[in-house]
This record gives sequence, structure tokens and C-alpha cells, in this order.
Amino acid sequence: MIPVKAITVVPGSSNSLSLREAPEPSPKRGELLLRVHRVGVCGTDMDIISGFYGEAPAGSPYLTIGHESLSRVERVGPGSRGFEAGDLVVPTVRRNCPENCLNCRSGESDMCLTGHYSEHGIKGLHGFASELAVTDSRFVVKLPEALSELGVLLEPLTIVEKGLNQAFGMQAGRMKWRPQNALVLGAGPVGLLATALLRMKGLKVTTVARKPPGSLKARLTVSTGAAYVDVGDVPLSSMEDRFDLVLEATGSTAVALEAQNLSGTNGVVSYIGIYRSQVGTEDAGKVFTNLVLGNRVYFGSVNANISYFRKGVADLVRIKRRFPGFLEQLITDKVPLSRWNDAYSAKGGDSVKTVLQLQQDRH
Ligand SMILES: [Zn+2]
Ligand SMILES: [Zn+2]
Repeated sequence: MIPVKAITVVPGSSNSLSLREAPEPSPKRGELLLRVHRVGVCGTDMDIISGFYGEAPAGSPYLTIGHESLSRVERVGPGSRGFEAGDLVVPTVRRNCPENCLNCRSGESDMCLTGHYSEHGIKGLHGFASELAVTDSRFVVKLPEALSELGVLLEPLTIVEKGLNQAFGMQAGRMKWRPQNALVLGAGPVGLLATALLRMKGLKVTTVARKPPGSLKARLTVSTGAAYVDVGDVPLSSMEDRFDLVLEATGSTAVALEAQNLSGTNGVVSYIGIYRSQVGTEDAGKVFTNLVLGNRVYFGSVNANISYFRKGVADLVRIKRRFPGFLEQLITDKVPLSRWNDAYSAKGGDSVKTVLQLQQDRH
């Protein structure tokens, strides 16, 4: 058996990131063996590398990281229907809890009730930053060849798909809702993908970030027809517009609080960041009065089930068609496996998304 290269951590201990020779995984019944082509790097990976969270699979001293991926099927395990070698695929991240709770057994493990779910590259299952990986074929979507490079953006897009789908569903469930405008807080990969998706829904979109107007984030925002605001220039507290929908994707606690003030009457605020503990002087009474008197909804959303991955595949194709070059430019740093360390080091300047290239394309 030939060992495969995998990028691993020892969960809970910082500075344990290393490239390791791991045994070749072999697909069991119902599983697929994947030849991983691309792995996206995000804040979750950096948090795991810092030792904030992460859990190795039972019996393993290490965890292979990577949850945003793009692969080709290498081998189909017995009983895995609908796939063949060479298929371009992306697996979802989360797997059902052992109790198989109501939501897990209904295909909504993203809404798992027990919290005992596992997640590839995060919690109890090896991730995809490995030359070969195995996963349950029931949690894998196929992609068209047009996405042979850009499909690595599918997983971050699904976070947006869920956040927006739930916001629209809630609003439609409680009134006649015809949203006109939306505010996207943050212009990282998730914020930019949200900007594109909201523009395709026909909304007037404002996206804010902490970069100057000429920066790549600003240019990408404007290329979708959205307005860009540099919060270094215009503080959020001085914004006069109020928005039907606010998507908080900065992960900043201060911005998260400000997001509530920026939602309009009957508005909805969708939170998809991870917020650090911060004891502040915010007037809690004002927060709740604002919530009640404005008929507002503030909600959080994490992870995404396979239905959002299916929707995301169609939307990636639509974004690619509607905003040519947008998705390509979003991937600013392509790092080959031989320089894997660079993929996980801090980037400055106009960096948006870093992608580790485990395979070089043949064409
Ligand atoms: Zn991620
Ligand atoms: Zn569950």
C-alpha cells in the first residue's frame, strides 16, 4: 500500500500542523474513494490549527484537516450507486449523529439535535487536505465539468445558500415580503458570494468591508452591480439606509451588534460568523426593544445539508455565466502541495480565497 500525503493537526495543540504520510484509505460499503484536486482554506481551518477546536477520529492521534473540497471519484466502493470513476464531485461536511435524531434522519444533519454529529476535517472524521479521501456516497454531489476549477467554492457558497434560504423562508412565513435591499457585512469569500447571489435575486445590495475602494474586494463587489462601502471611511454607525435583509459575515462581535441597528422594519438579520466573547456596554434593553418594535428576526445558521449543495451547484454555474471572471478572481492564492505551508500562513493585501492544489490539471 502506497502512503498518501495528508495535512494534519493534533487537535487541541497549536503549531502541530504537519504534512504526514498516511495509509491509503479504502472505501467501505457505500463509500467513495476520492482523488482530491482542490481544498479551500478558511477561518475554521485556521482556528483548528490554532488549537481552538477540532477532534481526531476515534483511535487516530491526528486529524486530517480540510472541509472545502473538489475531487474526482477514484474508486466506487460496493453499493455506492450513481457514481463512476472520474466524476467531478464535492462531499458535504457533516454526517449524521449516532442516535440518528429526527433532523439527521430527515436529511437535515445541519440541524442535528444531539450535537453528536461528525464533520470531515473538523470533528471526528478526517478531512480532505489529503491526496486520497473516503466519504459516504449519500453525502456527495456531482458537478458539471464547467466547474472543474471553481467547484472548490461550493462549500462556502452553501453557507450562504442556507443563510439566505432560511431568511427568505422565515420572512415569507410571517408576512407578505418583497425585499428591496440587502446589506452584506464582510467581503471575504462568503460575503462576496452572498453579494453575487443577492444581486441575482434582483436586490439592491450594499457590501461593506475594511478595504479601500480600489481594492480587489471593492472591485469584485462593484462588478456585480452592488455598492461598496469602506468602513474605514464610513463607519457603520453613520450609515443612514436601513435594510430588509442583513447578512453578517465578518465574525466581528461589534459589527454583529451594529447589524441589528441597520435592519429595517420587519427586517431579518442572518448571522453566519463565529463570534469571540466580548463583554461590552451595549444596552440590552435597547436591543430587545428594537427587536420587538420593529418586528425583526435575528437568527444564526451553521453548516449546510446536501440540498444546499445541490442548489449551490446550479447557482455557481449561474454566477459564472452572469458575472464572468468573478469566481475566478475570488481565488487569489493557488498553492501547490509542495508549498502546502504557504496555504496556511497569513495573507495580506488583496488576498480573498486561498486554495491548495493537490492535483495539477491535465489540460
Ligand atoms: Zn470553511
Ligand atoms: Zn442528529
